[in-house]
Order: sequence, then structure tokens, then C-alpha cells
Amino acid sequence: MANYYQPEIETMPYEQLRQLQNERLLKQVQHVWDNVPYYRQKMEEKGVTPADIQSVDDLHKLPFLTKADLRDAYPYGLMGKPKSECVRIHSTSGTTGKRVMAFYTQHDIDLWEDCCARAIVAAGGTKEDVLHVSYGYGLFTGGMGLHGGGHKVGCLTLPMSSGNTDRQLQFMEDLGSTILCCTPSYAQYLAESIHERGLQDKIHLKAGIFGAEAWSEDMRRDIENRLGIKAYDIFGLTELSGPGVSFECEEQTGMHINEDHFIAEIIDPDTGEVLPLGSKGELVFTSLTKEAFPLLRYRTRDICMLSREKCSCGRTFVKMAKPMGRSDDMLIIRGVNVFPSQIETVLLQKGYPANYQIIVDRVNNTDTFEVMVEMNPELFSDSLAKITSAEKELVSALKAMLGISAKVKLVAPKSITRSEGKAVRVIDKRKI
Ligand code: ADP
Ligand code: ZN
Repeated sequence: MANYYQPEIETMPYEQLRQLQNERLLKQVQHVWDNVPYYRQKMEEKGVTPADIQSVDDLHKLPFLTKADLRDAYPYGLMGKPKSECVRIHSTSGTTGKRVMAFYTQHDIDLWEDCCARAIVAAGGTKEDVLHVSYGYGLFTGGMGLHGGGHKVGCLTLPMSSGNTDRQLQFMEDLGSTILCCTPSYAQYLAESIHERGLQDKIHLKAGIFGAEAWSEDMRRDIENRLGIKAYDIFGLTELSGPGVSFECEEQTGMHINEDHFIAEIIDPDTGEVLPLGSKGELVFTSLTKEAFPLLRYRTRDICMLSREKCSCGRTFVKMAKPMGRSDDMLIIRGVNVFPSQIETVLLQKGYPANYQIIVDRVNNTDTFEVMVEMNPELFSDSLAKITSAEKELVSALKAMLGISAKVKLVAPKSITRSEGKAVRVIDKRKI
């Protein structure tokens, strides 16, 4: 049954991979032209026909698709197959606005699960593992994607979904879960809870597959140390099926993109110009094999870099760096670009847990910028003078990183609401 494990594809020489992509791209462009009038019209407006696309080198001729297009075409306007041939709907978590719907044929589900299975294998997963899936199940793709991947690998798959931390830990202990799949912020919360309850010796996790939101290298080390595991990143988005578009191998130096299914480009977000390998810019994906929701040149708004350096794992798939966050996560405060991930880095380096919230407002035509940070229990029980001096230290560290001043407020441990799904880091009152 399982066909996910295809080392001959994952380690294919570049020229051969390019050949495979060329063949698949031509087929996919024709499929979209024939079946997705919305995109065909975009191509016609640009004066492009399938005949103009002879190889991946011609990709740049195709028009982009944006989230606005997806909302425009909501709900069924970008489907490549009739509803009667589709078997599943998922939707984005709506982090940045109205939800977007995505559709799958059984073939699409199979390929998606293969991609997730590759991620599980790359994290050391085998049929001997108990795969504890604490991503949300339902419309969100995290739960069902890793779940399907777990089945393909033959793991004993535990569909926990998110929430009910006591039950999560009970099952982890009783069933001997070995691989945990959830958002990094929830992993961190689970790690805290394990320590609080003194369960370290009773939990036997060896690896975690964490994604769906941006997380820093420092946060990785923190989770790894607290849980005693190796923490692997996984990336994806609903529009392209879900998690498993790319995944980390044991080298942990970026995520291999499943290039037999997706072509990645990096563009200048302002001009749309394609940038050379190694440049930082907006990630754009073309799906080569999806039938029901075949997006060409979809702008993710994720800011990131690609690298084709040789990887010690033997995989030849291009690697993407951890996304720095989305272009629309980026805050412009008093004219300066600020990414929440930069703040997280400072906090972790200074020994704070990555539980924080950024509050931006505008008072008298000036942006106000406040960072609320949870204290460690030790600092919390210290004198007020110590706490004030710790706040001052954070103000300077943030200034050094960001180039602008923030007001820092240290708050009691556990007083910032924890998310079971994606963390809410920014409250931008200027937008309300
Ligand atoms: P929404 O756009 O509503 O959050 P999705 O749940 O489909 O919907 O989220 C996809 C987005 O999540 C990606 O575009 C990216 O910004 C973010 N994301 C997913 N995985 C990762 C990861 N490993 N690292 C950083 N960001 C990620
Ligand atoms: Zn690798």
C-alpha cells in the first residue's frame, strides 16, 4: 500500500528531478487551463497559453495567485475537479483574515499523506513508534495530515487533537508515546506541564514534529532540552494541502521541500521579480500534482530563503530556511520593521520563556509598542527592584535587536493565555 518511502525520488540527481518537474508542470498547466476558468482568464490577461510553458524555466511567465484571489474565488472558484470527484474540504486557520477553503480528491489526500509520511521518517519514525498527534483535528490540516502520514509509516497513531492537557500527559505516559506532533507553542506548554507535574521520568518521547507557526532556533533548543527530544520543523499551508510541503531531516539546517510535488520560487514581494537562490524574499509555490485545488505560483507571504547545498542526509530536495514570519506578520512600528520572531529570540537568549504578547497602539499620532513577558517563577518571587532592573535590561536588549524602544512589562508566570493551536503573539490595536 505505502508508496511514500521513495528514496530514489528524495535523493534524485538535480537534472533528473528537473526533468520530472518539467513533465509534471506541463501537464499541470494544461489541467488548470482546461478546468479552472478563473486562472485561465488570468493567463489570457497576461497573454500566456500552455504552449508558452515548455519547462520550469518558463514558470515566471505565469501569473501569480494571491490570498485575495482565493477569497475572490471563494468557495468553489479555483477547483480543478468537479465536486463529485472530491472527497475532502479543509480550511485555513484564518490567522490573517477570512478563512480560505481547499479541496482534495482521494489522489490528493494520498499524496499529501505521503509528504507527511516522509516527514515522519525523516524524524526517525518507524512502525515501532507511537505517534501522538496533538495538532487540532477538523478543518485545520495539522491533525489529519500527520495522522494520515502516521498510518502510511505504520506508526501506532494516537489522534489526540489539541487541548485537555491532563489527558494528553496521561495518554503520553500510559501509552508510551514516542513522537509528538503539535505546534511548537503547544509543545512548550506541554513541556512546562510535564516539569510541573514531575513527570519527566515517565514520558518517553524521542522526537517531536512541530510546525504551523514560526518558531526560532532558541525555542527549538528550549523544547529539546526540556523534553529531552530532537525537535523537527515541518512546514505547510492549507492552500497547498497542509503540513508536509517541506520537512526537516536530522541535519536540522532547513526544511527539504518535496520538490516532486511543489516548485518553490523566491520573489521580491514588492516587484514580483524572481530572485536568485540564496536571496531573502517571499516564498511562492506551484503545486505539480494536486488535482482538486491546483494552485500555480501561489504567493504565501512567508519570508524565507532557499538553499541547494548538499545535505548530509542524502536528500537532494532544495531546503528552505525557517520562515522569518509572514510579510503580513511584520509590524511597522514608528517606521521600523519588526518581526515577532526577533523578540522571541531576545527573550529566549535572556532566559525568559517564550510566552509573550506584543501590544501596538497609536496615541497622539505616535505608535506605542509594549511587550508583555512572563517572568520565571524565581524572578517572580524576587524583590520589586530586581524585577524593575530585569525590565530595564530587556528594554536595552530589545533596542539592540530592533533599533527602536519598547516598553517592557514583566508579568506573573502563566498569566498570558496559552494557545492550543497557533499562538496569538500580536495585538495591533491600530487595526481595530
Ligand atoms: P493560516 O494562513 O490561516 O494560518 P494555515 O493553517 O494554512 O492558515 O497556515 C499556513 C501558514 O502557517 C504558512 O503560510 C506559514 O506562515 C505558517 N507556517 C506553517 N508552518 C510553519 C513553520 N514550520 N514555520 C513557520 N511558519 C509556518
Ligand atoms: Zn537533509
